[in-house]
Amino acid sequence: MRRVTIAVEPSYEVLVGAGILDRVPDALGSMSRVAVVTQGAVATEHAPALVAVLRAAAVDAEVFTIPDGEAAKTLETVETLCRDLARGGLRRGDAVVALGGGVVGDTAGFTAAVYHRGIAVLQVPTTLLAMVDAAIGGKTAVNLPEGKNLVGAFHQPRAVVADVTTLGSLPAPEYRSGLGEVAKYALMPGGATVAAILESHLDEVLARHAGVLTDLVAECVAIKAAVVAADPEERTGVRAVLNYGHTLAHALETTGKYTLGHGDAVAIGLMFAVTLARNLERVADDTVDHVQQVLTSLGLPIRAPEDRSEPELLAVMRRDKKVRDDLTFVLPGPDGLELVHDPPATALTGAFRAVGVGG
Ligand code: NAD
Repeated sequence: MRRVTIAVEPSYEVLVGAGILDRVPDALGSMSRVAVVTQGAVATEHAPALVAVLRAAAVDAEVFTIPDGEAAKTLETVETLCRDLARGGLRRGDAVVALGGGVVGDTAGFTAAVYHRGIAVLQVPTTLLAMVDAAIGGKTAVNLPEGKNLVGAFHQPRAVVADVTTLGSLPAPEYRSGLGEVAKYALMPGGATVAAILESHLDEVLARHAGVLTDLVAECVAIKAAVVAADPEERTGVRAVLNYGHTLAHALETTGKYTLGHGDAVAIGLMFAVTLARNLERVADDTVDHVQQVLTSLGLPIRAPEDRSEPELLAVMRRDKKVRDDLTFVLPGPDGLELVHDPPATALTGAFRAVGVGG
């Protein structure tokens, strides 16, 4: 098992390993009552094992299942959950255990942030994306019809317990979604160890080998941990580096009405960003080749779906809520990843063409 400390105030630990759901009772400390919030297949595949270890440790655990899918990430679900928790008698000193992917983590995390003005939450991620990203860093949110993640709170978990064996039941497209984020870490400053694991243990990664995944997830978490500790509430801009590849990725997801998987969108976004960086003479051709090699080795795409156009994507990117100036990209360069504002149109067009987006 690997442990990564998230050095925020108060600090907490991320445990990563195979078959470690039995660590959850320990992570609860003296709390003896929890609401396990879960979703979809996780409710049948993994919740019973978690409830069994909690009850064996004399923790009173009740399961609350929210509807499946991103559509469940709403204020309505939060209200229903809060009412169910109230009826179930969950008090201030009790905890929510979020068992699932990013949707459960965000929805249960936000519920814990507001129920009784804030109760403890433990994140128990069961998707690769949630293990390396969503469950780490305390960001919680639900969607509005007006946009994604518009209502939320920073609410750091008491602990994160990532049992990589739960990934065995994850559908293939969801696993790929996480691999897109893993590729991002491999290509970030500090990502050399992640890149080395992908290079030397590619078959095991694709086969979801628990031992290799333990190291891979722990190394990704360590990168996010350093960024989160430097900027816990996204105030200084340091956390923006985590959005490498995401400016175009979000636009591809929005224009495709979320039919393109997140990992695929991030992969295309990474290819676009590194090409843009090359066009701006921030990196050399071999950096572009390296990004392409990492992405294709993981079976991730490097070209956008054919139906997207540069004007359509630019219009959406200009509306991206994370962007303060007109058009901002996180790009690699001699000093690592940096924000680059309003690059020249010729450099942008060249990068769009390189990922198959026409004018
Ligand atoms: P998800 O939570 O929608 O899960 C994908 C699907 O897999 C769901 O149907 C779920 O029920 C199922 N599932 C989950 N674990 C499973 C398992 N082990 N076996 C079988 N099925 C399983 O998808 P996701 O990619 O984990 O999360 C996406 C969400 O995360 C988005 O809403 C996004 O906004 C959010 N997110 C949040 C942060 C953050 O910092 N808070 C960061 C990145 C993404």
